[in-house]
Amino acid sequence: MALRLTEIFHSIQGEGSTVGLPTTFVRLTGCSLRCSWCDTTYSFTGGEDWTVDQVMERLAPIRTRRVCVTGGEPLDQHDEAIALMDRLLGEGYFVVLETSGSIDVSRADKLAPREMLQLSVDVKCPASNMQKRNHLENLALLKPHDQLKFVLSDRRDYDFAREVLAKRPTKAQVLFQPMWPSPNPVTETKVVGDVATMRNVAEWVLADGLDVRVGTQMHKVIWGHEKGR
Ligand code: SF4
Repeated sequence: MALRLTEIFHSIQGEGSTVGLPTTFVRLTGCSLRCSWCDTTYSFTGGEDWTVDQVMERLAPIRTRRVCVTGGEPLDQHDEAIALMDRLLGEGYFVVLETSGSIDVSRADKLAPREMLQLSVDVKCPASNMQKRNHLENLALLKPHDQLKFVLSDRRDYDFAREVLAKRPTKAQVLFQPMWPSPNPVTETKVVGDVATMRNVAEWVLADGLDVRVGTQMHKVIWGHEKGR
């Protein structure tokens, strides 16, 4: 059974509840979504075939025992991604699965030890143009150490996120991530996100008394859009 992989790299986790912690990223190739602001379009195609054994050999010399399985959309390679995470957990790694939220995570939810697996599930907001792909049934499965992430571009996205949370209360930690100012890799020139959006989101959260984390993407503060960071 081969995994299609775009890259493996060692960096720090740039977002969410494990932000700042050294992490090895295993980026799987392919995604059936096309978010308007996607910053990893290079992972849509290409890649190389790796066995789980080869991935484990590559990870072995890296002292970090924290691995983020990301994409693309890792669960588009469902059997292979589950096999990889099962092996990582069996060998004592803490695993974060970053998934678009468009695919049922119930198989991942059954992996053990579950407390060593953090599901980081997106909910796609209107500005992504992928809102219709949300599999919101995932929210009921999430545990307190899991993460539910909303990338926010504007007030419409914020109102949408607030409504989702009101209709589908979750046990997971909630991350509101305002769009970070950066060049759009698709158009190369157009800058998406701005500091005003970050400030607005922070002020809306405070005004509404929401118990959510407002976060940025720290790796972009440090390294910009450098690939493999
Ligand atoms: S789900 Fe992730 S990888 Fe896929 S298009 Fe959206 S941002 Fe890009």
